[in-house]
Amino acid sequence: MNSTSLPADFLPAHLWTNLLFTGTWEAGAVAVSPVVEPATDNLLGHIGNADAAQVAASANAASAAQSAWYQQPYDERSAVLRNAAQVAEQHFDAIVDWLVRESGSTRAKAAFETTLSIKVLHESAGLPSRSQGEVLPSTSGRLSLARRRPLGVVGVISPFNFPLYLAIRAVAPALATGNAVVLKPDPRTAVCGGFVIARLFELAGLPAGLLHVLPGGAEAGAALTSDPHVAMIQFTGSTGAGRKVGEAAGRHLKKVSLELGGKNSLIVLDDADLDLALANATWGVYLHQGQICMSTGRLLVQRGIYERFLERLVAKAKSLTVGDPATTNVDLGPLINAQQRDHAHRVVQAAQQAGARLDAGGGYDGLFFAPTVLSGVTRDNPAFNEEIFAPVAVVVPFDTDEEAIALANDTEYGLSAAVLSRDVGRALKLGERLRVGLLHINDQTVNDEVINPFGGVGASGNGASIGGPANWEEFTQWQWLTVKSDAPAYPL
Ligand code: NAD
Repeated sequence: MNSTSLPADFLPAHLWTNLLFTGTWEAGAVAVSPVVEPATDNLLGHIGNADAAQVAASANAASAAQSAWYQQPYDERSAVLRNAAQVAEQHFDAIVDWLVRESGSTRAKAAFETTLSIKVLHESAGLPSRSQGEVLPSTSGRLSLARRRPLGVVGVISPFNFPLYLAIRAVAPALATGNAVVLKPDPRTAVCGGFVIARLFELAGLPAGLLHVLPGGAEAGAALTSDPHVAMIQFTGSTGAGRKVGEAAGRHLKKVSLELGGKNSLIVLDDADLDLALANATWGVYLHQGQICMSTGRLLVQRGIYERFLERLVAKAKSLTVGDPATTNVDLGPLINAQQRDHAHRVVQAAQQAGARLDAGGGYDGLFFAPTVLSGVTRDNPAFNEEIFAPVAVVVPFDTDEEAIALANDTEYGLSAAVLSRDVGRALKLGERLRVGLLHINDQTVNDEVINPFGGVGASGNGASIGGPANWEEFTQWQWLTVKSDAPAYPL
């Protein structure tokens, strides 16, 4: 396969090759970088990259366009979001193809991601027509309103793993609530995480200048974070980069929302259904090769079923198929690049040196990492503590519910956790004491329904949430408005 086999009607290569999206497809890239298919190392094309000057120009243009957009009738803003959903539905297969080819997604994961993204557009289309605030009690003759107003320009910095969804979950509600957006996708997935979104909104009739898509690395991200025209940064990515973004945003007095890494526990209690526990664990650990912030990073299994569960998990891991998801129907595709693979390999080796047992996998072929099981992992083991972001099950035995709570909470992260048990009351009681932003009783750790608030505690974020009801808090700011028929005659 080569680039010509990608469907071109939605996103023809001549449109985006070496260009940036600033409302139109524009020259202005300072550097050009290859779009590489991780499964084959094939070249899919070339993207342009923005520098700090281009970021400044876009932030300026976005700021100039924003107030006219906010002043448009609310139903016209809704219509653009609805159109974008329709365009995405029409070009569903092309979008899935891009996710498969550029990000190494299996077709099932890519279809799931595209469906979630369309749902975000539909949900966002409903925001402009909702109540924008409250009427407050006040003195007689004075109308007092608390109303939500857009922030201005929102900078979105997004990662490679769910590139389309993790960008559009911010872009769509930010636009719907009257903001302009400058999106900096990860350069490894700039087409499906950036230009697909640009094209959706271009075809949907979004007025020019409101959405800018500028691929680039940390330098472009840092420029966005310090730009005076940008009111807020919505960042999704690693805790290390998130700390830098948070520091810079603080220095420039910007609102910042940080959705960061995780080390998420799936707790399997001894009364859990073993078949279901296996299915949940397999999904939580291996979906998208473990490259999800909510991936099950620790499988805590109660001693009474530990050996039986482990035996079946090892057999399951060995049975999973790995390969090019564009040409074969596989369970797992490639990791995104050699750096991620080498990181995972290093942790797996260090884990064994620290006393863990390797029961399956551990190796790789190119970017294809074998589904791996490490068992008998203890608290001082690097595999227990580090986010691996690869298909590695880290299996930890425990004896009591109290011990499971202590193990799950023994991390600086606090994104997602899940508990499996036939006794819902027992699972909930245990779950209540887990320090996480996302908690699932009788499910696994990877869950998002778009209409839920999504965010972590501790090193998984800065207390912000995105999605559903949280989008109002995320993308708007309160204004207190009072109105009197006549100004008061103050006595001073
Ligand atoms: P990353 O932090 O390396 O990159 C994320 C984005 O930040 C990219 O666009 C990158 O170019 C940009 N960036 C990097 N350094 C920057 C800087 N100094 N200033 C501004 N921008 C900068 O993360 P990644 O490797 O792409 O993604 C994996 C990580 O993201 C994992 O830790 C994962 O858990 C986390 N993640 C979190 C969520 C969530 O919602 N909580 C979702 C997905 C991924």
